[in-house]
Amino acid sequence: MTGLYFFNERVGYLPGTNNLGVVVCAPGRAIAVDTGIDKEAARVLRRACDVAGLQIVATLLTHHHADHVGGNDYFERNIPGLVCYAPRREAPFIEDPYLEPSYLSYGAAPIAPLRNRFVMATPSVVHHRIEPGLLTIEQVTLQIMAIPGHSLAQVAVLVDDVCFAADGFFGTAVLSKYGVPYAHDVLAQVASFDVVRSFDVTHWIPGHGDVQSSATIDATLDQNRQAVTRGIMLVRDACTMPSSFQQIVAHVQQRMGLQSSALAQYAVFASGISAYVTALHTQDVLTVELTNEGPVWRLNQ
Ligand SMILES: [Zn+2]
Repeated sequence: MTGLYFFNERVGYLPGTNNLGVVVCAPGRAIAVDTGIDKEAARVLRRACDVAGLQIVATLLTHHHADHVGGNDYFERNIPGLVCYAPRREAPFIEDPYLEPSYLSYGAAPIAPLRNRFVMATPSVVHHRIEPGLLTIEQVTLQIMAIPGHSLAQVAVLVDDVCFAADGFFGTAVLSKYGVPYAHDVLAQVASFDVVRSFDVTHWIPGHGDVQSSATIDATLDQNRQAVTRGIMLVRDACTMPSSFQQIVAHVQQRMGLQSSALAQYAVFASGISAYVTALHTQDVLTVELTNEGPVWRLNQ
């Protein structure tokens, strides 16, 4: 029992809070698709691969969020010659994770409560900055597909009939826990749901949630779309009265019955809501006016 589940002789994953992918790229050698939040998560994946007779020789990071890249440093320190691949526009955040809490702080130096492992991974080196297209590592060719929206330049990884979908969609339980799926760009995220559906595969592995088959993917993507629609409606509702951004966030939290238990959690939630405000402004649904008390948002009449 390795903990790894294999779809075929070369593509598998380690189920968990973060599903981590494994692709055999040569006899006894494997690529890790994402690395978990910290060195403990990375160690668990490495042990599972050891038991399966696989040495991890490369990591492929789908996007820069700490729960996907936090274990990369462990692999780089403990496996000589390990090579890391990540999307070009995600790489700066992986190499300098201080950027993440900084952008959650209006670009300023972040306060200490925002500099924790949930928003600031241990830094690691990206050896190859990749673009969407074909990527060959040792003896395996992967299809790297752009699915931006959740993050700036997130990618999905396709190999054989399997898609590692990163946070291109979320499982049902994750959706109910967080209310609205986190987004950097809501309109791009919704467009990426369709891209994810268009992949010619039989299994989709989200970063968080159950593996989806051709029989279940449509319903799960619909739930993701509905969650986005709910977020859009709540932000619209908030702006029926002129509202500051913080009032919008408070309105959405209250209507969803969500409470942030820590400043970092609040900052990430608020960042996601900011993406909804941007989407509605882009669509001319919201307008913004600069007042003596700061920007005030309202529905466009
Ligand atoms: Zn993410």
